[in-house]
Amino acid sequence: MLLDWIFTPRCACCQNTINHKLSLCECCLVTFPFFCPKQSNLLHRPDVTRVISLKYCDGLFACGWYQGWLQYWLSQYKFHKQTYIKRILMQLINYQMQRFWQYGGFNPDLYLFIPLSQTRYVTRGYNQVSQTWSPVLKKHSNVSEALFRVRATKAQSTLSRAQRKRNLKDAFSLSHCIQGKNIAIIDDVITTGSTMDAAAQTCLDAGAAKVWAFATSLTPLLGK
Ligand SMILES: [Zn+2]
Repeated sequence: MLLDWIFTPRCACCQNTINHKLSLCECCLVTFPFFCPKQSNLLHRPDVTRVISLKYCDGLFACGWYQGWLQYWLSQYKFHKQTYIKRILMQLINYQMQRFWQYGGFNPDLYLFIPLSQTRYVTRGYNQVSQTWSPVLKKHSNVSEALFRVRATKAQSTLSRAQRKRNLKDAFSLSHCIQGKNIAIIDDVITTGSTMDAAAQTCLDAGAAKVWAFATSLTPLLGK
C-alpha cells in the first residue's frame, strides 16, 4: 500500500518496521517486562502483597509494574489522549490476557470498570481505563458500566493509606443486579488497593460470587 510505504509503521520501542496493525514488534513484546503469566493470581506473590492489600478480592491480574515504558505510556495516555498510545496499551493488555487464559486464568461473567469521579470525567472527557480495555474485552465477555460513584471523593494520590480507606467508604454503588456472578473490576494503576477493595466490597455486598482485580499495572514499592 502506498500509504504504508510513505508512513512506514515502526515499533514504539525499538523503531524497527512493523505490520501497520501493530504498535510493538514481536521481539519487544516477547522481552517486555510483563508479570509471569504462569502465576495467574498475583496475590500469591509476596512482593505484590507487601505493597498492595486486596482483602475483598479473590485474585489479581496485571500486566506489569508501573515503571519504565508502561509508566510512561500510561501517564502519557491519562493526560494526553493519543491514539497511538492507546494502541500500544491495547496490544500489551491483549498479549498478557491471552497468556493469562492459556494458563487457566480467571474468566469472569462480567467486567466492570473503576469509574472516574464526575468532576474528573468532565475535566478529562474520557475514562482512560475503559478506552484501553473495552476493545480488548469486547471479543470475550460482558463489559458493563454498572459500577458508579455515589459521591465525589478526594483524589486518592493526595491521601495516606488510612485516609484513602475513609475517603472511599460507601463511595461506589451498582446499577444492575450482579447476584451470583463472577466479576472482574478493572483499573489502570493499582497503588495501595484501597479504591479497588472498596469497589470489590460493593460487589460482594451485592451478592457477587467471586471478585478479581484486573489492572494494567501495579505501583512498585519504590514508587510509593
Ligand atoms: Zn520493537
